[in-house]
Amino acid sequence: MAKVKVIPCKVCGGEDIELRDCGYNTTHMGGGTCQSCGRTVRDTVRMYPSPLDLARIWNNNQKPGTEDKLKSERAKTRKLRKQIRDLRATPVA
Ligand SMILES: [Zn+2]
Repeated sequence: MAKVKVIPCKVCGGEDIELRDCGYNTTHMGGGTCQSCGRTVRDTVRMYPSPLDLARIWNNNQKPGTEDKLKSERAKTRKLRKQIRDLRATPVA
């Protein structure tokens, strides 16, 4: 398959992404699979998709979505709450 640019896996950072389409059914699916963590991204593709079509499906899913942003904001909030607790627990000298 031709070399196309794929964004590294958003879960593990893996760069070895296998792009493939899975058979010629009525609902034609294709996308990519990360070879390090097994994360798979699939979407419907046209008949005989080009490597670029498959790469696009993978790439579009590597941008942080709303869920990822929420996760990261929640993590920040937890960290700040802990800092506040620690500060409150520290006796003022
Ligand atoms: Zn991965």
